[in-house]
Amino acid sequence: MISVTTTLTGFSFIYFLYSRIPYAMLCKTFERCEATTKRLAITEYLVQLFLQAIKLTPSGLLELLYMCINKLCPDYEGLEMGVGESFLIKAIVSSTGRNIKNIKAEYRSTGDLGTVAMNSKGSQGTLSMPKPLTVHQVFQTLKDLSQITGNQSQKKKIDKINSLLVQCRGSEAKYLIRQLEGKLRIGLAEQTVLSALAQSIVLSKPGKLQTSKLSQEKIEQALADAAAIVKSVYNQLPCYDMIVPALLEYSIKDFPDHCNMRPGIPLKPMLAHPTKSLTEILDRFEDRKFTCEFKYDGERAQIHLLPNGKSMVYSRNSENMSDRYPDIMSKLANWVMPTTSSFILDCEAVAWDKENKQILPFQVLSTRKRKDVKEEDIKVQVVVFAFDCLYLNGESLLRLPLEERREKLRSAFKETENEFYFARQMDSNNIDDIQVFLDVSIENNCEGLMVKLFDGEEASYEPSKRSRNWLKVKKDYLSGIGDSMDLVVIGAFYGRGKRTSVYGAFLLACYDPETEEYQTICKIGTGFSEEDLLNHYNALKGHVIEAPKRFYCLGENPVKPDVWFEPVKVWEVLCADLSISPRYMAAVGKVDASKGISLRFPRFIRVRDDKGPEDSTSSEQVMTFYYNQANSSKGKGDDMDY
Ligand code: ATP
Repeated sequence: MISVTTTLTGFSFIYFLYSRIPYAMLCKTFERCEATTKRLAITEYLVQLFLQAIKLTPSGLLELLYMCINKLCPDYEGLEMGVGESFLIKAIVSSTGRNIKNIKAEYRSTGDLGTVAMNSKGSQGTLSMPKPLTVHQVFQTLKDLSQITGNQSQKKKIDKINSLLVQCRGSEAKYLIRQLEGKLRIGLAEQTVLSALAQSIVLSKPGKLQTSKLSQEKIEQALADAAAIVKSVYNQLPCYDMIVPALLEYSIKDFPDHCNMRPGIPLKPMLAHPTKSLTEILDRFEDRKFTCEFKYDGERAQIHLLPNGKSMVYSRNSENMSDRYPDIMSKLANWVMPTTSSFILDCEAVAWDKENKQILPFQVLSTRKRKDVKEEDIKVQVVVFAFDCLYLNGESLLRLPLEERREKLRSAFKETENEFYFARQMDSNNIDDIQVFLDVSIENNCEGLMVKLFDGEEASYEPSKRSRNWLKVKKDYLSGIGDSMDLVVIGAFYGRGKRTSVYGAFLLACYDPETEEYQTICKIGTGFSEEDLLNHYNALKGHVIEAPKRFYCLGENPVKPDVWFEPVKVWEVLCADLSISPRYMAAVGKVDASKGISLRFPRFIRVRDDKGPEDSTSSEQVMTFYYNQANSSKGKGDDMDY
């Protein structure tokens, strides 16, 4: 239950004098969150933390919030927290004077460098008491660290980490190291943090909640409403730098008016559900109006134009790709109508054969340089296929049904040869017509179709949601499980025979956002060319770690690869079907209490550079694939390695 009042606790009172939030206060909250799995309890601990911060120093709330979600800035600014394991080990050695061998041995047995750092500090004698850390100091140092490059960067980084570690007390070293690794994994999902933020803001302001005697039920309803408002605003404007000051300044009702979506701040894209048959589409949409579009096989590109004429291209993950696509940027003026002054478009950038006016397969696009692209050096041409318009001339279109958004799209832009096209569409709801359109899409080097609800309120654009109002139909997978999976590489086995100098097979995992764990799903050794294997070896060898991470869910009789990796690389993988397995742990507890799901006959398709490890296929999706497979009794035999 949320308590409406809060007082400054003893140790924070001292900091009140300095207007700084103690790092110890944050770490205490982390400890409490880590000790429970109850979402409500975690929310309440965060609310108490934020309330104390607001009392101490409202201007410190933003940094505190970033520390809770372990980020340094909005995603599109591209500053990353992750510091390599070897750096961290060196810093622990130099700040504690402990022997590196002992540190590595303890790490191998715990899988958690944070705990190793805390224990190492604990066993250290203390001659003098260093000054306590503040959230501001830690946050700023982490920010500085992420920007260090060039000469002597290794030494500079270790020195900075060292200086923080020396000041750590109690559990601070544990959480500091985990923050530096890039992930806390103590149940602080961003949605929970958003709820807590909203609640603490409401509770901190004088208003009905504080003055009148509202029932607990009414208070909880008011807090839930506030959380819904903040989450909805965040979906359209994923930028805490704008949201937090507005929340502090205005009432919860008024603040959305000061946080409108705008070009320059990318939205998390709407995602689709896979389907296994065309009849599934008809079942889903029944007598509703829907539309089919080609599903282009390229890279998702959210294109923005600001009223000042500046333009940007963002990836599926809100990464700024403007430097990667100077050719898109330079031709933008050709396809924007003169009356269009600002916009956000949802598009696919696709490799293009100019001579034959044809789409080229994704493999061609993937050969394009990803960094420092100069327009004059570009060998692979791209065109833009626009399928949605989210913002136009100062107005958000998110709430409009697709039918109206499409009209706006078509009136504000024009197709220009070899540069910009509207996604090809077909609005018949007849199954034979859909089948023909699907075949045409494949002839045109597309992956299949996107089928979208067309009219009514539900046909709005739902940022960051995998919505059932968008269905994807991939021709290749109609006979299989309906879709490929995107899985994280967490280990590898040395090759034999022709593959001796590279890794010959790999251990893959899916991600469970609830538990924040990577769960093993299969061993894969098929689908790789020799060149692929060499590329994977080179891409992965820098990410080898001493031991499996504490957040790798491996089961009681785990598959043991020769080397373990940090969870960084995501691969698209196809399989014949899924089966229950005692050795793999995907979706454990969802279809069986102790066994997981594994993939049968997995085959490598491609690297997914546009996806981070936490965007990989979730255990919930794996479970859905399992239940939806054509003949679910088929896969229930014993586990099969490839
Ligand atoms: P998901 O987005 O479901 O996680 P994914 O990133 O692996 O999956 P796909 O399964 O290939 O991608 O399907 C969705 C992607 O299809 C979109 O993210 C977008 O890049 C692409 N796409 C191509 N054509 C369209 C279209 N007409 N409408 C929407 N998306 C399209």
